[in-house]
Amino acid sequence: MRLADRMISIGTESAFEAAARARALEATGRSVIHLEIGEPDFDTPANVREAAKRALDTGKTHYPPFAGIPELRSAIATDTAARRGFAPDPANVFVTVGGKGVMYYAILALVNAGDEVIVPDPGYPIYESVTRFVGGVPVAIPIRQENQFRMDPDELASLVTDRTRLIVINSPANPTGGVLTRGDLERIAEIALRHDLAVLSDEIYSRILYDGEEHTSIAALPGMIERTIVLDGFSKTYAMTGWRLGYGIVPADLAPGFGRLLINSVSGATTFAQWGAVEALRGPQDDVGAMVAEFRARRDLVVDGLNAIPGLRCLRPAGAFYAFPEVAGTGLTGAELAERLLAEVGVSVLAGTAFGTVGTNHVRLSYANSRENLAEALRRIRAVVEPLIASGAGTR
Ligand code: PLP
Repeated sequence: MRLADRMISIGTESAFEAAARARALEATGRSVIHLEIGEPDFDTPANVREAAKRALDTGKTHYPPFAGIPELRSAIATDTAARRGFAPDPANVFVTVGGKGVMYYAILALVNAGDEVIVPDPGYPIYESVTRFVGGVPVAIPIRQENQFRMDPDELASLVTDRTRLIVINSPANPTGGVLTRGDLERIAEIALRHDLAVLSDEIYSRILYDGEEHTSIAALPGMIERTIVLDGFSKTYAMTGWRLGYGIVPADLAPGFGRLLINSVSGATTFAQWGAVEALRGPQDDVGAMVAEFRARRDLVVDGLNAIPGLRCLRPAGAFYAFPEVAGTGLTGAELAERLLAEVGVSVLAGTAFGTVGTNHVRLSYANSRENLAEALRRIRAVVEPLIASGAGTR
């Protein structure tokens, strides 16, 4: 079959492919610890499940309004006012199928062929993939370990050209767990304002913050609500990955086009799932607190465990549920180490290159797994890495 030319430029998210590979190995009877996919291992809170079941049983099975049910758009607006410090008009809030929908629509709506989009490297691979798919040009901004995995605003300023249209930021970040400070965001906002750029602010991990960090949304800074698309959703915060529900808060100018993109693609997100999401936002938040506390304990287990293995070096991320250790000390690249970990000891992690070229000497581990599995994974990683160091292959 002859495919359209544009199919040459679509990328992928290799976490899904790595998970399939790991599951295939598991099917042969091997024990595999899955640290590749970014998915909470908890169940969706019971009150949220109950609300969706009630919705099913009371006939909430018809098409939703394309932009989302009014109750959910209003709950999102209220939550935004409380957590982000700006109160969007619910008319500019759109419920999407997964948070991913927002990045797709935002890039489709804003980027012409040849326009440049500044994307983090390492960063979530779909920003770059969709940019290429629409004929845009992704421009990678290195996210450096030396800078605590924060985007450097001076470097950002140096990458802006007269073709730049959009800056993508993601805080807390996948795959590094890096968190931008308010000062960073103010400087990024100043660049966006000076050059008349739009910002896609992926805030899907904004509730998963540790050590007293508080989330700041760039959209809340002066002048930014008119040029920022906020992406968030229910997948990570409420362990609802399979519900496929996210949302975008968009500038008023973009709202009509954004709605049309929804109509042209999915007609709206699943109606009864949206009723579950209303309960997620309006109901008790204890389960979120408990999940974040558990993630924090796991973060320390993983980071301390990795740093105790010679040849590995891992920063302590302030948010999300990923560790992004540097593995150069083993004498292997991230891709080589990931390959060996899966083949030799059944630990499935992602090569840093799944997120761009800057992560060549890193792997990404998701610590959304039980402490028991994480401790076992650390033992297995040590069993692969220690002999490398002992044989002199490593540099540390
Ligand atoms: N943005 C980032 C940074 C992510 O890591 C993910 C999922 O891994 C998403 C967006 C997509 O979220 P969803 O599953 O709600 O589509």
